Formats: sequence, C-alpha cells, structure tokens
Amino acid sequence: MHFVTRAIHAGQEPEPRTGSVNVPIYQTSTYAQDGVGEHRGWDYGRSGNPTRDALQTALASLEEADDAVVFASGLAAEDAVFRTLSPGDHVVMGDDVYGGTWRQVAQVHVPAGLEVSTVDMGDLDAVRAAVRPSTRLVWVETPTNPLLKVVDIAATAEIAHEADARLVVDNTFATPWLTQPLGLGADLVVHSTTKYLGGHSDVVGGAVCTDAETAERLRFLQNAVGAVGGPFDNYLTLRGIKTLGVRMQAHCANAGAIATHLAEHPAVAAVHYPGLPDHPGHEIAARQMRDFGGMVSVQLAGGRAAAEVVATSTELFFLAESLGGVESLVEHPGVMTHASVAGTPLEVPDDLLRLSVGIEHVDDLLADLDAALAHAA
Ligand SMILES: *Cc1c(COP(=O)(O)O)cnc(C)c1O
Repeated sequence: MHFVTRAIHAGQEPEPRTGSVNVPIYQTSTYAQDGVGEHRGWDYGRSGNPTRDALQTALASLEEADDAVVFASGLAAEDAVFRTLSPGDHVVMGDDVYGGTWRQVAQVHVPAGLEVSTVDMGDLDAVRAAVRPSTRLVWVETPTNPLLKVVDIAATAEIAHEADARLVVDNTFATPWLTQPLGLGADLVVHSTTKYLGGHSDVVGGAVCTDAETAERLRFLQNAVGAVGGPFDNYLTLRGIKTLGVRMQAHCANAGAIATHLAEHPAVAAVHYPGLPDHPGHEIAARQMRDFGGMVSVQLAGGRAAAEVVATSTELFFLAESLGGVESLVEHPGVMTHASVAGTPLEVPDDLLRLSVGIEHVDDLLADLDAALAHAA
C-alpha cells in the first residue's frame, strides 16, 4: 500500500464494538482482568494502552520498521536509546544536532560514563576517523538543526557497520514522507513526533522505529523508566499523521519558494536550504529525500541586531521555538533552541534565524518576511 494510505489505515481499523472509525482514546490507567493474572493483553497504563498501540503500528508502517515504541517526548525516546548502552561505550555524533539532544548527552549520559565525539557528519573521513573499537552508535540528524546540513545516510551506515556500530537517524526534520532511513541502512530511527508528525503544535511526543529485538529492549526500558505519553497525546499524534503527506507537500512547496526569494534578498547574507542548487548537500538530498523539507535557515546581512528585528517584526511567522506545525514560526537558535550549546563546538552563528515554514498561502508568507526584512534594513 502507498504511504498516504498507510498513514490513514495502518493500525487504525474501525473499533470492533461500535465501528468507530477513529481509534478511541482509551483514557484508563488499568484494565479489569478476567481472572487472576488473566488479562486481555493490557494490564496497566504505563505498560500498554490501545491508543498508543495504534500509533506504534502506524509509525512502524510509515518508517517500514518491524516495530515502533512511542514515548512522552522526543528526548524521552532518545534517552531510552542511550540507556541501551553501558558506561565506557562510545557514540559518534554530528556537530550540529538538536540542542536538547546535545544537552542530554553531555550533561546526563556522559556523567554516567558514556563517551562521545562530535564530528562534521558531512565529512565521511572525519566520521571514519572518529569511530573506535568501543563505538556502539553513530548518531545522525539530517537535515541538521538549525544549519540544515545534509548527511549521507547510506554512506554513514556503511562506516558504522564496518565498525560494528549501529546507525541512529533522528528523522524529525525529514519525516518518513521525505526519507526512510531504515531502507538506507540505518538501524534505529528516532522522532520528535511533536514536530511534523503531530503537525499542529498541540502535542509533545517521541518515538523510536527499529527491529523487533531492539524494540523489545526499548519497551522494557520504557516500562521500567516510565516515560509514556498519555492516550490523548497519542490520539492527537495519530490524527496528525493521517495528513502528513499532504502537509509535507505544502510545507516543501512554500519553503522552496521562500528560500529562493530570500536568496536574492539584499538584507540576507546566506540561505541554508537543501533544495537550493548551490547548497553543499543538494545532490545527496536529491538522492535520499523525496523533496527538500519545510525548514529554512537564513543569516542576516545586518548581523544579530537585524536578526532580532526580523524575528520580532513578522506577524504571520510567530516568534516561537519548535517547528513542523501548520503555522509558520521564526526563532533565533543562538538564544532560543540552541542556547545550551553556546561555548561548545556546536555553537550556532548569532545572525542566524530558523524558519519553520507553515502551510499558509505562500504570497502571505513572502509579504510578511519582506515587511520584516524592510524593518531590519
Ligand atoms: C524537538 C526535537 C527533538 C526533541 O524532541 P521533544 O519532543 O521536544 O522532546 C529531537 N530532535 C529534533 C531534531 C528536534 O527538532
């Protein structure tokens, strides 16, 4: 079945008792048992919930994974992946990962004994040089946040596998509509479903899509540690992914038009968008992505001051963290999402703004940006 059909049907058969075409929100913490220790597959809300099960089935289908494990947030999903490692294990990580991922690794897992090296994942020789006998995971985000660098998933998977390590891809920015990393050789895909998968800025969630054995270990950790989202959150995410395909087409079309327009604008010093032919990762992106995504980053000719004026002058682009919702957002990564990487090798330029391009009419978005850029001039 095609992707957009699976997004609507996988795990989402009508509910058998009433025929409800939507998976019910099973708002319960426990389940009545038929006999002592005789339950119908669910015994306690942390361990399992039918609404969560439906979302897991749908996500596994979209990523073409054996299984998916859904968590309370993207960072909870990542935490579970890192908990599969032992003290002394080594991770190679992109030098441009989500600030929260870096904070968790550097301030939670490294103090617990994990070793980590950061490299420019665009430089395959650097990745090869960074792996060690103790390397267990290579962690890739593509396109990266916030600089939208593109990482060659297939080539990185090969390097990881030669070193007996596994490749994790944070597929939050691309979504399975644009890229299916498991088919390119990745072993685990992590998501912040808060972003495009949920798609409406109304829920926080995360997931790991992977093979059956890894999923079983993650499910054990999830039950033991407890980072489960609520049934209503799972329902909202499931509702969001039904329209992922059509939303992504609109996000990509708008972002492409905005990137092209801004690249010509005198107040803009640089545009980072994988769809632009002069983007260093354009060819790889064209190979491993169906389209180029809804995120655009720009550096302002007027530096940080101009960036702040633009960020506070737009009307349709709300000044806010997060991304991937139907409404357009603008943010200043250096001060907002990536403040925790200041002074580290992951520090981002202070004239940089990140746009999460929504699905409003592109003419309205262009007019909004032009007006804000005029303020900054
Ligand atoms: C937001 C985000 C995360 C973290 O997810 P939460 O749902 O906020 O915990 C991880 N990776 C990327 C790329 C993100 O954008």
